[in-house]
Amino acid sequence: MKNEKAVVVFSGGQDSTTCLFWALENFKEVIAVTFDYNQRHVSEIECAKNITKELGIKHHILDMSLLNQLAPNALTRDEIEVKDGENGELPSTFVPGRNLLFISFAGVLASQVGAKHIITGVSETDFSGYPDCRDVFIKSLNVSLNLSMDQSFAIHTPLMWLNKAETWKLADELGAFDFVREKTLTCYNGIIADGCGVCPACILRKNGLEEYLLEREEL
Ligand SMILES: [Zn+2]
Repeated sequence: MKNEKAVVVFSGGQDSTTCLFWALENFKEVIAVTFDYNQRHVSEIECAKNITKELGIKHHILDMSLLNQLAPNALTRDEIEVKDGENGELPSTFVPGRNLLFISFAGVLASQVGAKHIITGVSETDFSGYPDCRDVFIKSLNVSLNLSMDQSFAIHTPLMWLNKAETWKLADELGAFDFVREKTLTCYNGIIADGCGVCPACILRKNGLEEYLLEREEL
């Protein structure tokens, strides 16, 4: 794969930044694509821009505001509270069709730039109940994309079977631990690095980090 081109679905968060480093390790040319769907925090887009700039990666930002028009949710509307799903319900941060749309548009971009590989940081391990983070969905979308464009794309999901601690470990193995810790934005309240510490995204990130740091100390 070393001589090939890859498109990374990139949000500026811990997971997709780790994927960006993974892609830099595995492909000759890496292109990042970020989707702007009026996230509550403009800082998410700014953070993504700063990271690609620092790494010298070509970066496309695509307007997906129609997603907010169709499916208002806790990531785009201040009046909707961020909360975990209860009694089998999906969390309020779930955006129906998000990964379907994002990965499909990444596929369109990949076909335009002649890239065969598409990388996304979805994970079935810590998937918070999002159905479009499941491996079976990604595999089915891979088939659909190939059929729709008569292409032979390969969708890569380096984090699919990793928990948050293992994702920190992967970043560390890629020599990107400090970069990911200090420069990425995962927090639902728009605070970079360790975040607000209390929202569900921060708690997930912090628990994984603490677990990994403990493990690293024992080595
Ligand atoms: Zn937070």
